[in-house]
Amino acid sequence: MKLTVLGSGSTGNAVLIVAGNTRVLVDAGLSAKEITRRFAMMGEDIKCLDGILMTHEHGDHAGGLRVLLGTVDCPVYISAQTHDAYVSEKFNVANEEPRRRVKALRDRVEQIESSREFRIGEIDFHPFTIPHDAVDNFGFTATHQGVKIATLMDFGHMTTLVTERLRGCAAIVIESNHSRDMLKACDNYPWDLKQRILSRLGHLSNEDLADWLKHGFDGCARYIVLAHLSQRANNPYLAKINAEVALYERAPLFPTETQISLSYPKEPTPWIEV
Ligand SMILES: [Zn+2]
Ligand SMILES: [Zn+2]
Repeated sequence: MKLTVLGSGSTGNAVLIVAGNTRVLVDAGLSAKEITRRFAMMGEDIKCLDGILMTHEHGDHAGGLRVLLGTVDCPVYISAQTHDAYVSEKFNVANEEPRRRVKALRDRVEQIESSREFRIGEIDFHPFTIPHDAVDNFGFTATHQGVKIATLMDFGHMTTLVTERLRGCAAIVIESNHSRDMLKACDNYPWDLKQRILSRLGHLSNEDLADWLKHGFDGCARYIVLAHLSQRANNPYLAKINAEVALYERAPLFPTETQISLSYPKEPTPWIEV
C-alpha cells in the first residue's frame, strides 16, 4: 500500500491511497483541475479512481468535489449529515452551487457512519469520529493485506478513540496545524477565529501532537506525515522539530524508528510505501 498527500493546508486537502489495483481519494479540497494535475504528477490517472471519501464538509476538504465528479465516475463515501451540510452550503459559494451539488451527487453516494467498516476494492476502511466543528467529522484507517495506515486532519484534541484507532498503523497522516504561541501572536487573525482554532473542536497544535507522540503514540508507525500546517501560525521546520524532539524524549523503554515528514499546500509529497 502507498499514499501521497497531494496537497494540505487551509487552501485545500487531498490524500491519495493506492493498494494493488485500488485507488481512493480522501477529501477533494483542491480544485478538480489541480487534483487531476497532481494525480498525473504522481503517475496516476484520475479516471482510475475507485472512490472518494469525505472527512467533513468544510471547503478546504470538499471544495473541489462537485467539479471532480464531472470527470470521474466513482462513488462518494460520505455520511448522511455531511452530505446534507455539503449540499446546503450557503456561505462562500455561488447561488447555483447547492443545486449543482445535489445533482452531481445524485446516485453517486455510498452512505458511511462512524465505526462501521466498509470496503473499496482491495482496501478496508474504518471511519472514526474526531472532534471538530463540522457536522460529522471522520478520520479513517485503511487496511490492505494486514497493513494499516491512517489519515486524520481537522480535530481539536486527541481522544482515547483516536489513540485506539491509530494503534498498529504503519503510516499516519496527522494534523499539526499551528504553534500556539505563533497563533496567539498572529496579527492576521481576529480573536474569535483564534478562539475557534484553539478550541477543543478546532485544530490540533504542534504542542498537542508532541504531547501525544510522547504519551499516547504506540511507536509503531514507520512514517508520520504532518498535515494541514497553518501558513500564518506555523512554520514547517518548527512543526517538524517539535515532533522529532517529542519522539526523542519518549521514555528509553519506548524507542521508535519513526520518520517525521512534511506535506505541502502546493505540491504532493513523494510516495510513502508500507
Ligand atoms: Zn481543514
Ligand atoms: Zn475543517
